[in-house]
Amino acid sequence: MPPATNVAVIGGGILGLATARELLLRNVKGVTVLEAESKLGSHQTGRNSGVIHAGIYYAPHSLKAKLCLEGLHKTYQYLEKNNIPHKRVGKLIVALDDSELPELHRIFVNAQENAVPEIRLVDAGGIRDIEPECSGIAAIHSPLTGVVDWGLVADHYAQDIRNLGGEILTSARVIGVNCNDTITLNYKTGDKVSTLSTERVISCAGLQSDRVAQLLDGLRAPQILPVRGEYLRVTNPHIVKRIRGNIYPVPDSGTGTPFLGVHFTPTMSGELIVGPNAVLAFSRAGYRPLDFSLRDMKDMLSYPGFWHLARRFWRYGAAEFYRSIFLSAATTAAQRYVPVLKSSDFERRGAQFSGIRAQALGLKGELVDDFVFETAADGRVLHTRNAPSPAATSSLSIARMIVDKSLSS
Ligand SMILES: Cc1cc2nc3c(=O)[nH]c(=O)nc-3n(C[C@H](O)[C@H](O)[C@H](O)COP(=O)(O)OP(=O)(O)OC[C@H]3O[C@@H](n4cnc5c(N)ncnc54)[C@H](O)[C@@H]3O)c2cc1C
Repeated sequence: MPPATNVAVIGGGILGLATARELLLRNVKGVTVLEAESKLGSHQTGRNSGVIHAGIYYAPHSLKAKLCLEGLHKTYQYLEKNNIPHKRVGKLIVALDDSELPELHRIFVNAQENAVPEIRLVDAGGIRDIEPECSGIAAIHSPLTGVVDWGLVADHYAQDIRNLGGEILTSARVIGVNCNDTITLNYKTGDKVSTLSTERVISCAGLQSDRVAQLLDGLRAPQILPVRGEYLRVTNPHIVKRIRGNIYPVPDSGTGTPFLGVHFTPTMSGELIVGPNAVLAFSRAGYRPLDFSLRDMKDMLSYPGFWHLARRFWRYGAAEFYRSIFLSAATTAAQRYVPVLKSSDFERRGAQFSGIRAQALGLKGELVDDFVFETAADGRVLHTRNAPSPAATSSLSIARMIVDKSLSS
Protein backbone atom coordinates (compact mmCIF):
# COMPACT_ATOMS: atom_id res chain seq x y z
CA MET A 1 0.00 0.00 0.00
CA PRO A 2 1.51 3.43 -0.89
CA PRO A 3 2.01 5.79 2.04
CA ALA A 4 -0.89 8.09 2.81
CA THR A 5 1.48 11.01 3.12
CA ASN A 6 5.06 11.64 2.05
CA VAL A 7 6.21 13.63 5.06
CA ALA A 8 4.54 13.67 8.48
CA VAL A 9 5.53 16.59 10.70
CA ILE A 10 4.90 15.99 14.41
CA GLY A 11 4.09 19.21 16.28
CA GLY A 12 2.00 22.21 15.29
CA GLY A 13 4.16 24.81 17.01
CA ILE A 14 6.04 27.44 15.04
CA LEU A 15 8.84 25.04 14.02
CA GLY A 16 6.61 22.21 12.79
CA LEU A 17 4.47 24.68 10.86
CA ALA A 18 7.44 26.55 9.36
CA THR A 19 8.95 23.20 8.31
CA ALA A 20 5.76 21.91 6.70
CA ARG A 21 5.38 25.22 4.86
CA GLU A 22 8.98 25.04 3.60
CA LEU A 23 8.46 21.47 2.34
CA LEU A 24 5.40 22.56 0.38
CA LEU A 25 7.20 25.61 -1.03
CA ARG A 26 9.82 23.15 -2.38
CA ASN A 27 7.03 21.22 -4.11
CA VAL A 28 7.05 18.24 -1.76
CA LYS A 29 3.58 16.71 -2.13
CA GLY A 30 1.70 15.02 0.67
CA VAL A 31 2.69 16.94 3.81
CA THR A 32 0.69 16.36 6.99
CA VAL A 33 1.16 18.11 10.34
CA LEU A 34 -0.04 16.24 13.44
CA GLU A 35 -0.65 18.40 16.50
CA ALA A 36 -1.62 16.91 19.85
CA GLU A 37 -3.62 19.90 21.10
CA SER A 38 -6.90 21.18 19.67
CA LYS A 39 -5.24 24.55 18.94
CA LEU A 40 -1.97 25.16 17.09
CA GLY A 41 0.82 26.94 18.94
CA SER A 42 -0.61 26.16 22.39
CA HIS A 43 2.76 25.70 24.11
CA GLN A 44 6.02 27.63 23.66
CA THR A 45 4.88 29.30 20.41
CA GLY A 46 1.91 30.98 22.05
CA ARG A 47 3.61 31.69 25.37
CA ASN A 48 6.80 33.66 24.95
CA SER A 49 8.22 37.18 25.13
CA GLY A 50 7.48 38.00 21.51
CA VAL A 51 10.96 39.32 20.84
CA ILE A 52 12.51 39.20 17.36
CA HIS A 53 16.11 38.57 18.36
CA ALA A 54 19.08 39.98 16.46
CA GLY A 55 21.61 37.24 17.38
CA ILE A 56 23.76 39.13 19.89
CA TYR A 57 24.67 36.58 22.55
CA TYR A 58 25.11 33.27 20.78
CA ALA A 59 28.51 31.59 20.42
CA PRO A 60 30.07 32.56 17.08
CA HIS A 61 29.59 29.87 14.38
CA SER A 62 26.95 28.10 16.49
CA LEU A 63 23.65 27.11 14.87
CA LYS A 64 21.93 29.66 17.10
CA ALA A 65 24.17 32.48 15.85
CA LYS A 66 23.80 31.56 12.17
CA LEU A 67 20.12 30.66 12.16
CA CYS A 68 19.06 33.60 14.32
CA LEU A 69 20.63 36.14 11.97
CA GLU A 70 19.22 34.43 8.88
CA GLY A 71 15.88 34.11 10.68
CA LEU A 72 15.86 37.79 11.64
CA HIS A 73 16.04 38.90 8.00
CA LYS A 74 13.63 36.23 6.78
CA THR A 75 11.17 37.10 9.57
CA TYR A 76 11.07 40.81 8.75
CA GLN A 77 10.58 40.01 5.03
CA TYR A 78 7.76 37.60 5.89
CA LEU A 79 6.06 40.01 8.31
CA GLU A 80 6.19 42.84 5.80
CA LYS A 81 4.99 40.73 2.88
CA ASN A 82 2.05 39.41 4.91
CA ASN A 83 1.20 42.67 6.70
CA ILE A 84 1.64 41.07 10.12
CA PRO A 85 1.79 43.74 12.84
CA HIS A 86 5.25 44.06 14.35
CA LYS A 87 7.51 46.81 15.68
CA ARG A 88 11.25 47.39 15.34
CA VAL A 89 11.42 48.85 18.81
CA GLY A 90 15.11 48.11 19.40
CA LYS A 91 16.86 46.79 22.45
CA LEU A 92 19.29 48.02 25.08
CA ILE A 93 21.49 45.65 27.10
CA VAL A 94 22.27 47.83 30.08
CA ALA A 95 25.26 47.82 32.44
CA LEU A 96 24.25 49.35 35.76
CA ASP A 97 27.75 49.74 37.17
CA ASP A 98 31.47 49.23 36.45
CA SER A 99 31.38 45.59 37.51
CA GLU A 100 29.20 44.76 34.48
CA LEU A 101 31.35 46.53 31.89
CA PRO A 102 33.73 43.64 31.07
CA GLU A 103 30.79 41.31 30.32
CA LEU A 104 29.02 44.03 28.31
CA HIS A 105 32.13 44.49 26.18
CA ARG A 106 32.54 40.74 25.76
CA ILE A 107 28.94 40.52 24.49
CA PHE A 108 29.53 43.46 22.14
CA VAL A 109 32.61 41.80 20.60
CA ASN A 110 30.63 38.55 20.34
CA ALA A 111 27.81 40.37 18.52
CA GLN A 112 30.30 41.92 16.11
CA GLU A 113 31.73 38.49 15.40
CA ASN A 114 28.20 37.30 14.68
CA ALA A 115 27.81 40.23 12.24
CA VAL A 116 24.73 41.50 14.06
CA PRO A 117 23.61 44.51 12.02
CA GLU A 118 23.61 48.09 13.32
CA ILE A 119 24.69 47.44 16.91
CA ARG A 120 26.68 50.06 18.79
CA LEU A 121 27.83 50.92 22.30
CA VAL A 122 26.25 53.90 24.02
CA ASP A 123 27.09 55.74 27.25
CA ALA A 124 24.74 56.94 29.99
CA GLY A 125 23.64 59.92 27.86
CA GLY A 126 23.06 57.63 24.88
CA ILE A 127 20.88 55.37 27.03
CA ARG A 128 18.76 58.32 28.08
CA ASP A 129 18.42 59.53 24.47
CA ILE A 130 16.95 56.14 23.56
CA GLU A 131 15.04 55.36 26.77
CA PRO A 132 14.68 58.47 28.96
CA GLU A 133 13.42 56.46 31.97
CA CYS A 134 16.26 53.90 31.88
CA SER A 135 19.27 54.23 34.10
CA GLY A 136 22.70 52.69 33.46
CA ILE A 137 26.28 53.65 32.70
CA ALA A 138 26.68 51.98 29.29
CA ALA A 139 24.66 49.78 26.96
CA ILE A 140 24.64 47.86 23.72
CA HIS A 141 21.97 49.24 21.42
CA SER A 142 20.43 46.94 18.80
CA PRO A 143 17.93 48.95 16.73
CA LEU A 144 16.88 45.90 14.67
CA THR A 145 15.52 43.89 17.60
CA GLY A 146 11.74 43.90 17.40
CA VAL A 147 8.51 42.53 18.79
CA VAL A 148 5.76 40.43 17.25
CA ASP A 149 3.08 37.98 18.34
CA TRP A 150 4.73 34.64 17.45
CA GLY A 151 1.39 32.81 17.83
CA LEU A 152 -0.02 35.01 15.07
CA VAL A 153 3.01 34.32 12.88
CA ALA A 154 2.45 30.56 13.39
CA ASP A 155 -1.21 30.99 12.36
CA HIS A 156 0.00 32.60 9.12
CA TYR A 157 2.35 29.67 8.45
CA ALA A 158 -0.63 27.34 9.02
CA GLN A 159 -2.69 29.30 6.48
CA ASP A 160 0.18 29.05 3.97
CA ILE A 161 0.24 25.27 4.50
CA ARG A 162 -3.46 24.98 3.75
CA ASN A 163 -3.15 27.25 0.70
CA LEU A 164 -0.28 25.12 -0.61
CA GLY A 165 -2.30 21.91 -0.27
CA GLY A 166 -0.87 20.56 3.00
CA GLU A 167 -2.97 18.99 5.72
CA ILE A 168 -3.06 19.89 9.42
CA LEU A 169 -4.60 17.48 11.91
CA THR A 170 -5.25 18.93 15.35
CA SER A 171 -6.11 16.85 18.44
CA ALA A 172 -3.82 14.21 16.91
CA ARG A 173 -1.28 13.05 19.49
CA VAL A 174 1.33 10.67 18.06
CA ILE A 175 1.61 7.72 20.45
CA GLY A 176 3.47 5.08 18.49
CA VAL A 177 5.75 4.63 15.51
CA ASN A 178 6.78 1.65 13.47
CA CYS A 179 9.75 2.14 11.12
CA ASN A 180 9.81 -0.41 8.28
CA ASP A 181 9.94 0.22 4.51
CA THR A 182 7.28 2.78 5.18
CA ILE A 183 6.83 4.41 8.55
CA THR A 184 3.55 3.95 10.38
CA LEU A 185 2.43 6.50 12.95
CA ASN A 186 -0.33 5.81 15.44
CA TYR A 187 -2.07 8.89 16.74
CA LYS A 188 -4.85 9.41 19.20
CA THR A 189 -7.83 11.74 18.89
CA GLY A 190 -9.87 11.47 22.07
CA ASP A 191 -10.18 7.69 22.58
CA LYS A 192 -9.85 6.86 18.91
CA VAL A 193 -6.50 5.58 17.60
CA SER A 194 -5.78 6.13 13.89
CA THR A 195 -2.87 5.21 11.66
CA LEU A 196 -0.93 7.21 9.09
CA SER A 197 1.75 5.75 6.86
CA THR A 198 4.50 7.98 5.55
CA GLU A 199 7.92 7.92 3.90
CA ARG A 200 9.54 10.48 6.21
CA VAL A 201 8.95 11.99 9.64
CA ILE A 202 10.14 15.30 11.02
CA SER A 203 9.55 15.85 14.70
CA CYS A 204 9.26 19.33 16.23
CA ALA A 205 7.57 18.30 19.46
CA GLY A 206 8.91 20.98 21.83
CA LEU A 207 8.41 19.95 25.44
CA GLN A 208 7.79 16.34 24.38
CA SER A 209 10.67 16.14 21.90
CA ASP A 210 12.68 13.59 23.92
CA ARG A 211 9.63 11.34 24.29
CA VAL A 212 8.76 11.57 20.61
CA ALA A 213 12.42 10.86 19.77
CA GLN A 214 12.23 7.70 21.88
CA LEU A 215 9.15 6.60 19.93
CA LEU A 216 11.09 7.28 16.74
CA ASP A 217 14.15 5.23 17.57
CA GLY A 218 16.00 8.02 19.35
CA LEU A 219 17.75 8.05 22.71
CA ARG A 220 16.33 9.31 25.99
CA ALA A 221 19.19 11.80 26.38
CA PRO A 222 19.21 14.70 26.17
CA GLN A 223 16.05 14.88 28.26
CA ILE A 224 13.77 17.89 28.33
CA LEU A 225 13.92 19.99 31.49
CA PRO A 226 10.79 22.14 31.77
CA VAL A 227 11.73 25.65 32.92
CA ARG A 228 8.80 27.97 33.52
CA GLY A 229 9.04 31.65 32.68
CA GLU A 230 6.61 33.94 34.50
CA TYR A 231 5.96 37.59 33.73
CA LEU A 232 4.95 40.73 35.55
CA ARG A 233 3.13 43.60 33.86
CA VAL A 234 3.70 47.31 34.50
CA THR A 235 0.40 48.92 35.44
CA ASN A 236 1.48 52.58 35.46
CA PRO A 237 0.16 53.85 32.07
CA HIS A 238 2.56 56.81 32.06
CA ILE A 239 5.60 54.49 32.19
CA VAL A 240 4.07 51.98 29.77
CA LYS A 241 3.94 54.83 27.24
CA ARG A 242 7.45 56.07 28.04
CA ILE A 243 9.34 52.77 27.57
CA ARG A 244 9.74 52.39 23.82
CA GLY A 245 11.85 49.26 23.39
CA ASN A 246 13.31 46.21 25.07
CA ILE A 247 15.52 46.77 28.10
CA TYR A 248 17.70 43.80 29.05
CA PRO A 249 20.22 43.29 31.85
CA VAL A 250 23.78 42.17 31.24
CA PRO A 251 23.28 38.43 31.78
CA ASP A 252 25.05 37.12 34.85
CA SER A 253 27.66 34.86 33.23
CA GLY A 254 28.34 33.38 36.67
CA THR A 255 25.02 31.49 36.65
CA GLY A 256 26.15 29.32 33.72
CA THR A 257 22.59 29.23 32.36
CA PRO A 258 21.56 30.20 28.82
CA PHE A 259 18.78 32.48 30.14
CA LEU A 260 19.07 36.16 29.24
CA GLY A 261 17.65 37.60 32.45
CA VAL A 262 14.42 39.37 33.25
CA HIS A 263 13.76 42.12 30.73
CA PHE A 264 11.25 44.85 29.89
CA THR A 265 9.38 44.19 26.64
CA PRO A 266 6.62 46.29 25.08
CA THR A 267 4.19 43.75 23.60
CA MET A 268 2.15 44.06 20.42
CA SER A 269 -1.00 44.27 22.54
CA GLY A 270 0.27 47.45 24.21
CA GLU A 271 1.43 45.98 27.52
CA LEU A 272 4.83 46.49 29.09
CA ILE A 273 5.89 43.12 30.48
CA VAL A 274 8.81 42.19 32.72
CA GLY A 275 10.18 38.65 32.61
CA PRO A 276 10.57 35.80 32.12
CA ASN A 277 12.13 34.33 35.24
CA ALA A 278 13.39 30.73 35.12
CA VAL A 279 11.68 28.41 37.61
CA LEU A 280 11.84 24.62 37.51
CA ALA A 281 8.35 23.35 36.53
CA PHE A 282 6.95 20.20 38.15
CA SER A 283 5.01 19.43 34.98
CA ARG A 284 5.82 19.95 31.31
CA ALA A 285 2.49 21.75 30.98
CA GLY A 286 2.75 23.32 34.43
CA TYR A 287 1.85 26.90 33.68
CA ARG A 288 0.73 27.50 37.26
CA PRO A 289 3.26 27.32 40.10
CA LEU A 290 1.62 24.33 41.81
CA ASP A 291 0.91 22.26 38.69
CA PHE A 292 2.35 18.78 39.12
CA SER A 293 2.66 15.72 36.90
CA LEU A 294 3.69 12.41 38.42
CA ARG A 295 5.01 11.12 35.09
CA ASP A 296 7.06 14.25 34.44
CA MET A 297 8.49 14.25 37.96
CA LYS A 298 9.36 10.54 37.77
CA ASP A 299 11.18 11.12 34.47
CA MET A 300 13.01 14.12 35.91
CA LEU A 301 14.08 12.49 39.17
CA SER A 302 15.20 9.24 37.52
CA TYR A 303 17.46 11.07 35.05
CA PRO A 304 21.11 11.30 36.21
CA GLY A 305 21.56 14.68 34.49
CA PHE A 306 18.96 16.22 36.79
CA TRP A 307 20.98 15.40 39.92
CA HIS A 308 24.19 16.77 38.41
CA LEU A 309 22.29 19.93 37.53
CA ALA A 310 20.69 20.19 40.97
CA ARG A 311 24.12 20.03 42.65
CA ARG A 312 25.44 22.89 40.51
CA PHE A 313 22.39 25.12 40.31
CA TRP A 314 20.47 24.69 43.56
CA ARG A 315 21.33 28.22 44.71
CA TYR A 316 20.26 29.78 41.41
CA GLY A 317 17.08 27.65 41.40
CA ALA A 318 16.21 28.58 44.98
CA ALA A 319 16.69 32.30 44.25
CA GLU A 320 14.38 32.07 41.24
CA PHE A 321 11.74 30.30 43.37
CA TYR A 322 12.04 33.05 45.97
CA ARG A 323 11.55 35.78 43.36
CA SER A 324 8.64 33.83 41.89
CA ILE A 325 6.86 33.70 45.26
CA PHE A 326 7.64 37.20 46.55
CA LEU A 327 6.56 39.88 44.10
CA SER A 328 8.68 42.54 45.81
CA ALA A 329 11.87 40.50 45.23
CA ALA A 330 11.07 40.35 41.51
CA THR A 331 10.24 44.04 41.22
CA THR A 332 13.41 45.17 43.02
CA ALA A 333 15.57 43.79 40.20
CA ALA A 334 13.45 45.49 37.52
CA GLN A 335 13.33 48.83 39.37
CA ARG A 336 17.11 49.15 39.10
CA TYR A 337 16.71 49.68 35.33
CA VAL A 338 13.69 51.99 35.51
CA PRO A 339 14.04 53.66 38.94
CA VAL A 340 10.89 55.77 38.56
CA LEU A 341 8.83 52.59 38.95
CA LYS A 342 7.40 51.81 42.40
CA SER A 343 6.57 48.28 43.63
CA SER A 344 2.91 49.19 43.31
CA ASP A 345 3.41 49.77 39.56
CA PHE A 346 3.73 46.00 38.92
CA GLU A 347 1.30 43.10 38.97
CA ARG A 348 1.63 39.43 38.09
CA ARG A 349 0.66 38.76 34.48
CA GLY A 350 -1.00 35.44 35.30
CA ALA A 351 -0.53 31.79 34.37
CA GLN A 352 -2.33 32.15 31.05
CA PHE A 353 0.73 34.07 29.82
CA SER A 354 3.51 32.08 31.46
CA GLY A 355 5.58 29.83 29.21
CA ILE A 356 7.63 26.69 29.72
CA ARG A 357 10.97 26.40 27.98
CA ALA A 358 11.85 23.01 26.52
CA GLN A 359 15.46 23.04 27.64
CA ALA A 360 17.51 19.96 26.73
CA LEU A 361 19.55 18.58 29.61
CA GLY A 362 22.54 16.32 29.02
CA LEU A 363 23.39 13.22 31.05
CA LYS A 364 26.09 15.10 32.99
CA GLY A 365 23.72 17.92 33.92
CA GLU A 366 24.77 20.26 31.13
CA LEU A 367 22.12 22.68 29.84
CA VAL A 368 22.52 22.14 26.10
CA ASP A 369 23.17 25.57 24.66
CA ASP A 370 22.89 25.21 20.89
CA PHE A 371 20.02 24.02 18.71
CA VAL A 372 20.22 20.24 18.21
CA PHE A 373 18.73 18.20 15.35
CA GLU A 374 19.33 14.48 14.86
CA THR A 375 18.52 12.01 12.13
CA ALA A 376 17.59 8.33 12.46
CA ALA A 377 16.28 5.45 10.33
CA ASP A 378 18.70 6.13 7.44
CA GLY A 379 17.81 9.81 7.41
CA ARG A 380 14.08 9.18 7.01
CA VAL A 381 13.45 10.56 10.49
CA LEU A 382 14.63 13.92 11.78
CA HIS A 383 14.18 14.93 15.42
CA THR A 384 14.41 18.41 16.84
CA ARG A 385 16.08 17.79 20.22
CA ASN A 386 16.77 21.32 21.46
CA ALA A 387 15.08 24.41 20.07
CA PRO A 388 14.71 26.99 22.85
CA SER A 389 14.91 30.76 22.33
CA PRO A 390 15.65 32.21 19.75
CA ALA A 391 13.90 29.41 17.83
CA ALA A 392 10.79 31.49 17.11
CA THR A 393 12.97 34.18 15.50
CA SER A 394 14.86 31.43 13.69
CA SER A 395 11.78 29.45 12.59
CA LEU A 396 12.11 30.18 8.87
CA SER A 397 15.85 29.49 8.81
CA ILE A 398 15.52 26.34 10.95
CA ALA A 399 12.84 25.15 8.52
CA ARG A 400 15.18 25.88 5.60
CA MET A 401 17.96 23.89 7.27
CA ILE A 402 15.74 20.96 8.33
CA VAL A 403 14.31 20.63 4.83
CA ASP A 404 17.79 20.85 3.21
CA LYS A 405 18.93 18.10 5.57
CA SER A 406 15.86 15.98 5.18
CA LEU A 407 15.71 16.13 1.38
CA SER A 408 19.42 15.45 0.95
CA SER A 409 19.34 12.11 2.80
C1 LIG B 1 9.00 31.95 28.31
C2 LIG B 1 9.55 31.87 26.91
C3 LIG B 1 9.99 33.03 26.27
C4 LIG B 1 10.51 32.95 24.98
N1 LIG B 1 10.81 34.10 24.31
C5 LIG B 1 11.20 34.04 23.01
C6 LIG B 1 11.40 35.22 22.26
O1 LIG B 1 11.16 36.32 22.75
N2 LIG B 1 11.86 35.11 20.99
C7 LIG B 1 12.13 33.90 20.41
O2 LIG B 1 12.58 33.86 19.26
N3 LIG B 1 11.91 32.76 21.10
C8 LIG B 1 11.43 32.80 22.36
N4 LIG B 1 11.16 31.65 23.06
C9 LIG B 1 11.43 30.37 22.41
C10 LIG B 1 10.33 29.97 21.42
O3 LIG B 1 9.05 30.27 21.92
C11 LIG B 1 10.46 28.49 21.14
O4 LIG B 1 11.81 28.21 20.86
C12 LIG B 1 9.61 28.05 19.95
O5 LIG B 1 8.27 28.44 20.15
C13 LIG B 1 9.72 26.55 19.77
O6 LIG B 1 8.75 26.15 18.85
P1 LIG B 1 8.38 24.62 18.71
O7 LIG B 1 7.45 24.52 17.56
O8 LIG B 1 9.64 23.82 18.70
O9 LIG B 1 7.71 24.23 20.10
P2 LIG B 1 6.18 24.35 20.62
O10 LIG B 1 5.58 25.67 20.31
O11 LIG B 1 6.23 23.96 22.06
O12 LIG B 1 5.43 23.28 19.77
C14 LIG B 1 5.60 21.89 19.90
C15 LIG B 1 4.27 21.26 19.56
O13 LIG B 1 4.39 19.84 19.50
C16 LIG B 1 3.18 19.29 19.96
N5 LIG B 1 3.41 17.90 20.34
C17 LIG B 1 4.16 17.42 21.36
N6 LIG B 1 4.11 16.08 21.40
C18 LIG B 1 3.31 15.69 20.38
C19 LIG B 1 2.87 14.41 19.91
N7 LIG B 1 3.24 13.27 20.50
N8 LIG B 1 2.03 14.37 18.83
C20 LIG B 1 1.65 15.52 18.21
N9 LIG B 1 2.04 16.75 18.64
C21 LIG B 1 2.87 16.84 19.69
C22 LIG B 1 2.82 20.17 21.15
O14 LIG B 1 1.46 20.08 21.49
C23 LIG B 1 3.23 21.54 20.63
O15 LIG B 1 2.15 22.26 20.06
C24 LIG B 1 10.63 31.69 24.33
C25 LIG B 1 10.17 30.54 24.98
C26 LIG B 1 9.62 30.62 26.24
C27 LIG B 1 9.07 29.39 26.88
